[in-house]
Amino acid sequence: NFISAVVPPSEIGVKFEDIGALEDVKKTLNELVTLPMRRPELFTRGNLLRPCKGILLFGPPGTGKTLLAKALATEAGANFISITGSTITSKWFGDAEKLTKALFSFASKLAPVIIFVDEVDSLLGARGGASEHESTRRMRNEFMAAWDGLRSKDSQRIIVLGATNRPFDLDDAVIRRLPRRIYVDLPNSENRIKILKIFLQQENIESSFRYDELANATDGYSGSDLKNLCIAAAYRPVQELLEEEKRGDGNKTASSLRSLNLNDFI
Ligand code: ATP
Repeated sequence: NFISAVVPPSEIGVKFEDIGALEDVKKTLNELVTLPMRRPELFTRGNLLRPCKGILLFGPPGTGKTLLAKALATEAGANFISITGSTITSKWFGDAEKLTKALFSFASKLAPVIIFVDEVDSLLGARGGASEHESTRRMRNEFMAAWDGLRSKDSQRIIVLGATNRPFDLDDAVIRRLPRRIYVDLPNSENRIKILKIFLQQENIESSFRYDELANATDGYSGSDLKNLCIAAAYRPVQELLEEEKRGDGNKTASSLRSLNLNDFI
């Protein structure tokens, strides 16, 4: 019960092409994870191409870090294990050693696997001094020990991918174990257009709608904010139809739904 999800790659249902923008991030993740997992034989010679055991995705909330982790598992053909820092520290009282060992031995059996640790700062945050709970400290140390203990044959096939909005809270020892840190930024206007196009590709939109106008009006929005805006826009025609029905206006069906008017949001 400390694992929030275990999903085989065929069932994840998200690919990199479903993620708007973030092209550089996808490229880096493909180089660091997809290639070594798909073509391990290319990484056996010499010492230079060391497998990367840990990657940190950091950046503002809602920018697609979780989505990237899932899509990466699809791209790499890896099983996806997801754990959430704050859930773990509240649930894993006492049994730190047993549970972390179980997690990593389970991962070895499922390899290739991506262990996604959301809110990694809660699990592996900086040493909290006297105020820190003993169980949190023990959990962090056990997690790092089990992670270090991965046999070298597994290290190419088990990757810990941490995500956080608070990178400065991470413990130095943890930072060292996440040698590749990737910033997942808020989208600029051009990238907001790309993301909006993904959400709206199946929708029936008013012909006067201009993507660039909405993109310009949504400065500072994350991918998640843009999604919520599109959901709100899609909901309006449904509400209107229900109101018309209530007023007894004719016999409305789903096919009479008005197209999405995103201009209302500009
Ligand atoms: P948090 O830091 O709050 O956990 P996060 O960075 O992990 O956020 P996600 O949970 O991946 O963000 O994103 C939330 C939702 O926003 C996703 O399920 C997805 O629908 C949408 N989203 C965010 N960014 C993008 C993007 N670039 N392309 C497509 N969808 C996106």
